[in-house]
Amino acid sequence: MTRTISILGATGSVGASTLDLVRRNRAGFHVVALTANSQASDLAALAREFNAEIAVVADESCLPQLREALAGSGIEAAGGPAALIEAASRGADITVAAIVGCAGLAPTMAAIEQGGTIALANKEALVSAGDVMTAAVARHGATLLPVDSEHNAIFQCLAGNDLAHVRWITLTASGGPFRDWSAERLVHATPAEAVKHPNWSMGAKISVDSATMMNKGLEFIEAFHLFPVGVERLRIIVHPQSIVHSMVEYRDGSTLAQLGPSDMRVPIASTLAWPARMDTPCTPLDLAAIGELTFRATDELRFPATRLAREAACAGGAAPAVLNAVNEIAVAAFLAGQIGFTRIVAYADDVLSRALPSPPTSLEEVIAVDREARILAREAMEPAH
Ligand code: NDP
Repeated sequence: MTRTISILGATGSVGASTLDLVRRNRAGFHVVALTANSQASDLAALAREFNAEIAVVADESCLPQLREALAGSGIEAAGGPAALIEAASRGADITVAAIVGCAGLAPTMAAIEQGGTIALANKEALVSAGDVMTAAVARHGATLLPVDSEHNAIFQCLAGNDLAHVRWITLTASGGPFRDWSAERLVHATPAEAVKHPNWSMGAKISVDSATMMNKGLEFIEAFHLFPVGVERLRIIVHPQSIVHSMVEYRDGSTLAQLGPSDMRVPIASTLAWPARMDTPCTPLDLAAIGELTFRATDELRFPATRLAREAACAGGAAPAVLNAVNEIAVAAFLAGQIGFTRIVAYADDVLSRALPSPPTSLEEVIAVDREARILAREAMEPAH
């Protein structure tokens, strides 16, 4: 059976892992849309290789380059935010939402409105839009499958069980590259050190989020929406080996965990084949060689991001969208060498402690909150503050 697939964020890390699986199962998929922000020549090469129907760059200034690279191929080329939404609305059987940041929200919502299956990697979209997105999923009869390895693990551990019997959902965290650094040393952490994740190969933004533990904070809010057991049943544990991807403990004392190699092709494959399974080229787990799986509590004094995220989840309303937007601005500023590492979470804390916008109840309102929070974040970063 051939299914249609669109990949939003095809030139990124998750996009590349997804296309690697598609490449190995060419008969199983027909590619509808591939999108990128500005990497027009890479996108064109992928569109040609996979014979996509349409390729879209979000940054319209890159459209001439995309057109030129696709000349004579018969593949449609388009550019700009509206074209991105139009491509996401073409109704593929599976849409992989792998754009980084809240920029992925509107196209992901457009795909949801078509009622197909959404393999969601773009956690920032769900964190920002929360109830607006889950309500749209229900309204349009779409299926939301989590790509994030932790949420994919939880999804697998919940299969065939009732949420009412869940005692705990435990998200595991590698702790990132700085998990053993002192608070003093963290102040001087550089972008090059922050993007060097010990276990996973990922895009720059999520790698920095992993180093601050904001990634786990965003995942906490993501889990809050995907698996509605309540904040008090969600917890985080540090597991440096990244082999146990998350766990669910039931009321009878049974804990189910999902284990696998630290390779995003495993959770992506689980969403592409769901409810069946497909082969991946990943090296099988060799637990004897790994030897030890260790766990420890999180340290919210050195890494306050998870506390902030929990508070934002409890506060609800605009708080998660504000947290996400400020974090996006602060991470970009850190990567550009404009602010120190520990300031990323400090700015989020600062902005969240101010008067927040009204709770958003529609996509347009979420986007407005996101825009407002970015302005607040930039103001907070001005030298006078
Ligand atoms: P990358 O930075 O590697 O890729 C991001 C993709 O989004 C690229 O295709 C990029 O295009 C596109 N993009 C960037 N900005 C925009 C924009 N403004 N509008 C439209 N498209 C844009 O990110 P990752 O693949 O690492 O992460 C993607 C998402 O998946 C994130 O939300 C992340 O948190 C999540 N995730 C990632 C994991 C991983 O292992 N990488 C694991 C779990 C979740 P271009 O190449 O042209 O810049």
